[in-house]
Amino acid sequence: MAWFTRQKPSLEGGPPTEGEKNVRTEGLWQKCEACGQIIWRKAVEENLNVCPKCEHHFRIGAAERLQQLFDDGRYEEHDGGLLSSDPLHFVDSKPYPQRLEEMRLATSLPDAVICGSGTLNGRPVEICALELKFIGGSMGAVVGEKITRAIERSLAARTPLIIVSASGGARMQEGTISLMQLAKLSAALMRLDEAGVPYISVLTDPTTGGVTASFAMLGDLNIAEPRALIGFAGPRVIEQTIRQKLPEGFQTSEFLLDHGFLDAVVKRPDLKNYISNTLSLFLA
Ligand SMILES: [Zn+2]
Repeated sequence: MAWFTRQKPSLEGGPPTEGEKNVRTEGLWQKCEACGQIIWRKAVEENLNVCPKCEHHFRIGAAERLQQLFDDGRYEEHDGGLLSSDPLHFVDSKPYPQRLEEMRLATSLPDAVICGSGTLNGRPVEICALELKFIGGSMGAVVGEKITRAIERSLAARTPLIIVSASGGARMQEGTISLMQLAKLSAALMRLDEAGVPYISVLTDPTTGGVTASFAMLGDLNIAEPRALIGFAGPRVIEQTIRQKLPEGFQTSEFLLDHGFLDAVVKRPDLKNYISNTLSLFLA
């Protein structure tokens, strides 16, 4: 069986024909997981990893997110040396320290958030971005502490705060200590609010659990990328609890916007300017 064929990949979408199935497209081309079209990878990258055909927003990592938002992709990273201890000596399918070590190797990150200072359209800001690939972007003591310190830097310098969420919620392996971060972060954000320093929360696919239940929904403005999954518990758990069928599109950005849980749904290519314009209004 051949590994290659000479046929060109279809650019017009639709399921591949028999001959096309063997075309290697990993390099220059990629298939959109939403519309199924074969698209030029460079065109996707230039569009900030949004499909140019159907506007599907591909998931991106924390480092790429900060690159997109900070001017020239440049920022000063903070608290990169904070590492989680194993306070509960937790073991599930493997010991927690081993899981952390594997995640650090796989992502080249110390934990599930990157926090940085820099400028956004010339204005000094603090931005934190969660990394979904690090134990599902889950919030343990390190994520809680790093974001709290970012809030405190915002407070001290009176610079706006932006947190970009992508998370499954609290970190199971840190149990109650993880849940305590909800209270700690909420209290810190209240101090920021009392000082009148703006905080914009950006929810991306997916944002669930304890992250939705704390800082992700506490922004002066809570905005989301299109078609992101946003919720607290999963739909099955809710259906079993309330014994009702859930409506179509439940837990998407657009549904939450229609029902007053979000202030706006903003496409990724518009995000930076949207945040910048909003901050101008807040600080006018
Ligand atoms: Zn697409």
